[in-house]
Amino acid sequence: MRSKRIWARLASVEGASVVDVSSEEEGDALEVVVGVRIYRQDESRCGICCTRCPGYDAGHGLRRWRSLDLGVVRVSIEAAAPRVFCVEHGVTTAHVPWARHDSGFTRAFEDQVAWLAVHTDRTTVSALSRIAWRTVGRIISRVSDEGTGRSDRFAKLKRIGIDEISYRSGQKYITIVVDHDSGRLVWARPGRDEATVHAFFDELGEERTAQLELVSADAAIWISNVVKQRCPRARPCMDPFHVVAWATKALDQVRRALWNEMRQAGKKMLAKSLKGMRWAILKNPENLTEHQQTKLSELERTNRRLYRAYLLKEKLRAIFQEHPDFGPMLIDDWIVMARRSRIAPFVKLADTVLANRQAIINALDAELSNARTESANTKIRLLTRLAFGFHSAHALISLAMLRLGGICPSLPGRA
Ligand SMILES: [Zn+2]
Repeated sequence: MRSKRIWARLASVEGASVVDVSSEEEGDALEVVVGVRIYRQDESRCGICCTRCPGYDAGHGLRRWRSLDLGVVRVSIEAAAPRVFCVEHGVTTAHVPWARHDSGFTRAFEDQVAWLAVHTDRTTVSALSRIAWRTVGRIISRVSDEGTGRSDRFAKLKRIGIDEISYRSGQKYITIVVDHDSGRLVWARPGRDEATVHAFFDELGEERTAQLELVSADAAIWISNVVKQRCPRARPCMDPFHVVAWATKALDQVRRALWNEMRQAGKKMLAKSLKGMRWAILKNPENLTEHQQTKLSELERTNRRLYRAYLLKEKLRAIFQEHPDFGPMLIDDWIVMARRSRIAPFVKLADTVLANRQAIINALDAELSNARTESANTKIRLLTRLAFGFHSAHALISLAMLRLGGICPSLPGRA
């Protein structure tokens, strides 16, 4: 192999030949600059659509793209970056085969950053790549856009879940669509209103919407209205995850009300023990620590009311683990029990469960697993924390698509 071809491989140059290699020193840091000339067949193409177009001008002269490091040494590719005139896109910087449009990094560099963002934490990505987290956000947006454009996410979609995720401390929302069969995230967009749900069905198209057998959601009117209108033949289901979340919320309301009562009555010790009880009663029993288990048995003796509320939550959760044939009977029993409990948040919840009875039974019949819908929801919620420094919903959605949409690129050179 001749040295120019070796350099082309080392610097991840594609579609161009190396014309010279130089190095620059900045303090202690060394940077290798690989000068290249694009192959004739790749010349003068629109940066956006890659169509061959007439040249416009020389742009800003020579440009550099950062590539993967060689050991501890930084590497850049340098080439002319003329502008062309595309009939569709107007004046654009000409396409280069080694980088995505409008990027100062090579494809190989960006793919590695995206892979790292999917597989490791924020500090590691930034430190290893020597770029700011916001830059990571812009890179993964480009990689994700390309990935979603290339793959057919909507093929064979039959059973979907529509949900909302809040971020920025509940100030902003995105709407997500999950494929229940593959467990993948297939669509996400900022907003939580009817227009956003319509936008999903617009993108899905009529033919594929007609193939949907089941749509699950929480009880949100803005989702169900649009679902009824756009795919009336799909069975509406209540995500088990949300039903359990309602019960957990009701239980926490009971606990807080009791805590306040005791504080006002001056029973400080009892109030304190209730506060420490929070996780013991909200968590699933199989996940309790030994200490929390002790707390729970203590509760059975010391606070019957809260313990009854706890049992109501657990009974509702257990319905989703029973055989679907028992569903209607178990739900009706639960409604009666909750009403008789005279615990206000659960009496109210009984009405909500009754109002959504058929959708809950549909979910049981379809054997929609609580674990799966919950895990998609939880995973994205975790991402919202990771995405905090991004300053754009687009970057958050890109990260979610890369992690949960199955479009993460493989590491460069290891296809
Ligand atoms: Zn174009």
